[in-house]
Amino acid sequence: MEQAQTIAQPAKVDYARIATEEAFAPPEMLKIWRKILDGADPDPGFVSLIGFYMSSPSARARHIIECLQDLDQLRLQHMDEAGIDRQVIALTSPGVQVMDKDTAVSFAQVANDQLSEAVRKHPTRFSGMVAIAPQDPAAAAKEIERGVQELGLTGIIVNSHTQGEYLSDPKFWEIFEAAQANDTPIYLHPNTPPRNMIGPFLECGLDGAIYGFGVETGMHALRLITAGVFDRFPKLQIILGHMGEALPFWSYRLDYMHRATVVSKRYASMQPIKKKPSEYLRENFYITNSGVASEPAIKFTQDMMGADRVMYAMDYPYQHAVEEVSILDGMAISAEDKKRFFQSNAEAAFRLK
Ligand code: CA
Repeated sequence: MEQAQTIAQPAKVDYARIATEEAFAPPEMLKIWRKILDGADPDPGFVSLIGFYMSSPSARARHIIECLQDLDQLRLQHMDEAGIDRQVIALTSPGVQVMDKDTAVSFAQVANDQLSEAVRKHPTRFSGMVAIAPQDPAAAAKEIERGVQELGLTGIIVNSHTQGEYLSDPKFWEIFEAAQANDTPIYLHPNTPPRNMIGPFLECGLDGAIYGFGVETGMHALRLITAGVFDRFPKLQIILGHMGEALPFWSYRLDYMHRATVVSKRYASMQPIKKKPSEYLRENFYITNSGVASEPAIKFTQDMMGADRVMYAMDYPYQHAVEEVSILDGMAISAEDKKRFFQSNAEAAFRLK
């Protein structure tokens, strides 16, 4: 964005700033996406989001498309200007999840090879997450193993629903098994709401990052909790962006109504689980502030989740807002908690060295 050049570089600080929800898109993926957009009956959320970014002449859209495709000097320059020491990079939404199964499985490998090459080239500046194709859970589990053990990637990216399907369905649980076995967190990143949910969002322009993302992804995370995923995989760690898609703010009501609903036996799909929803949130989730440079929201979330569960993200290049770095540097929290927020929690969650 033009304004990035005119804003003073953030001050030197005694912690590393690690940005944990940073996106890339191989040029080859944009070609596959173009074919899907031009094909028969493309997903309406995909058309709204990616159709816009890939065709809009606006400065914002062109900046995003240019930056997404770079894993080298342009990205490093923007990181230096913003005082970002390290990016944890993931394949941008919806990644391969909008593709047919065979293309998705093979392109996830291509994307992971490219990202790991960039990480090897800039090992102190970049870390990366494994992209997977939930369309083929067994292949996704194998790719997690390859990505972590052979490519050195340290997280897994899932861009929420896969063509309307949710990971709360046990047919996907091989993915969780592989994540837990490889001690690697899954970043559950937003996607636009699926075809059968998007109508009322689309008609008023609320389907994207402004609101639809958070509603859809928050529901996805809740579905994992209520389906018992964390009773089956107690060590599994999920990362949510955007201040936990508001779930910490909901937690009292979630606990109260979950218990009431289970006791009433109202839904076969809502069986007893071992803990309260808020307890799984605290024990099985990390939250990043991507897109939300709000001190009150961050403090509230640290209070609800514990200061060791909340970490920094810029959401580059979508929210390439350099001025937010200084705002967050200036938060009135202890020096220890600030270092946790910017550095140590990301080092722990992603096992960074
Ligand atoms: Ca993002």
